[in-house]
Amino acid sequence: SQENLRPKSIDLSHHLNTLSRSRVPSPLKDIIKYMREPGMISLAGGLPHPSLFPYHSLRVDVYTPDTLDGHGQPSDASTGLTLHSEKYGDRDRTGTDISTGLQYTTSKGSERLSSFLQKFTKDVLRPGFTDFEILLNFGNTDAWSKVVSLLCEQGDYILVEEHTYPSSQALWAPMGCRGAPVQMDKDGIIPQALEQVLGGWNEAVKGGKRPRLLYLIPVAQNPTGATLTLERKKAIYDICVKYDVVICEDDPYYFLQLPAYLPPEQRAVRIATEMTPEELLEFLVPTFLHLDWQGRVIRLETFSKTLGPGNRLGYFICNPIFAERLQRASEVMTQAPAGWSQIIVEELLCTWGQEGFLRWVTGLRDSYTVRRDWMCDSLVEFFDVVSAPEGLAADVIAYPKGRISAGKTAPVFSFSYPKGGMFLWIKLDLSQNPVYQRMKANGEANAEQKWADEFWMSMIRAKVLLVPGSYYTPILSNDQRMKQDGAVAYFRLAYSLESREDIHVGIQRMARTFDESWEFRK
Ligand code: PLP
Repeated sequence: SQENLRPKSIDLSHHLNTLSRSRVPSPLKDIIKYMREPGMISLAGGLPHPSLFPYHSLRVDVYTPDTLDGHGQPSDASTGLTLHSEKYGDRDRTGTDISTGLQYTTSKGSERLSSFLQKFTKDVLRPGFTDFEILLNFGNTDAWSKVVSLLCEQGDYILVEEHTYPSSQALWAPMGCRGAPVQMDKDGIIPQALEQVLGGWNEAVKGGKRPRLLYLIPVAQNPTGATLTLERKKAIYDICVKYDVVICEDDPYYFLQLPAYLPPEQRAVRIATEMTPEELLEFLVPTFLHLDWQGRVIRLETFSKTLGPGNRLGYFICNPIFAERLQRASEVMTQAPAGWSQIIVEELLCTWGQEGFLRWVTGLRDSYTVRRDWMCDSLVEFFDVVSAPEGLAADVIAYPKGRISAGKTAPVFSFSYPKGGMFLWIKLDLSQNPVYQRMKANGEANAEQKWADEFWMSMIRAKVLLVPGSYYTPILSNDQRMKQDGAVAYFRLAYSLESREDIHVGIQRMARTFDESWEFRK
């Protein structure tokens, strides 16, 4: 079978940093495994006696997996399933009892949850190497901090996308690491640009070694919304093999890959709900993990976007050497994820089953499709949106409403219809903006940033809040950010949270603010 053709991971232990090489098993944690041996009388551990925990049962009411019907929210407020956990379960129950779930465990956490995820990973993501391991963690924020402390040394360069997730940088910048940005277009980072950065690396000029770690968000990238195609993923993976780079794929939006946006008049009655989980799996671009025949991908999985961020639960999928070192780190940094989260998520997933979880994420994806359409419809309504010329890193260009035909007009921003996730990224063209022109005429330094700050404040005065694009600019070193080229500014809009009405009003206010800033008179 194909399974037999897949190789085991190769030894990448030369990537481990001094800290992670030096870790030893936490002496106390090592004892726990012996405590589980049949017949063992443990006078060793300082475990609190579970009879002294004040909780005796847990009941959580949840939706059935088919509840999301593609209208942007659950169709029915009634819950369909009840999850249960007792302090001391009966013998016939497979679930985790409270007495076990709230007790100290190994830092690996729940075995039942881990094996569910192991099977899910094998069946759904189909890693390219056979000996992948699952290690639970507290979500991708926790996971990334553990990856950095696994691999990076002070002064290291880390390959990042040209616009990248700010919290990921805020972690390593104070540690003295530096970003090596890779150019993107509307499909994410460009393989040739990655090749150029790595192939053209000059240690003397850069004052540091060639990067050995690529951090990226391959699907519905935060902030740009770009999703890498399979061809690009393959090309990027091959380059990483060539230059011996470890890939950390931070992929919270993987299941939220959306169908292409069609304007309302071209959109037939929505059929998204008819997509089966099998069809969804066909539709999803395979992960880097799937392409990985060496074990050089560390995949970060989180339940934040599928089951709620407050679960603080996620997991690594990676090679056994990295998993073992990450576990050593977990022992002394966090221990296993919170017991309540593990009990509830484990019960939920094991009750829904793999099929049920896939049904849930299929419904979730339909719901985000609807939300994406709310925002795009509003943009199409309040701006004149036309196809972008070939070569521009965006699908469309937005003009102020009703001004194209009036002759004298200029585009105000360009964007791509999101094909995934929660965000829409706009690139403003400041060249014809009178405020910006005056700033330039006055010789103002850093005019783009000043203009963007002022524009952002004028949006806030109009009661619409966006995220300034500058938050996502790569950090080159602790006191220096990448310089943006030309008369441009970026903002990120999220369609994940507000209602249809509020998204509509928000875009209307935004259009008015654009008109004012460009000094168009009605
Ligand atoms: N990574 C990316 C790219 C994200 O967009 C987010 C959340 O917005 C996170 C990580 C945080 O994930 P978690 O809640 O799993 O820590």
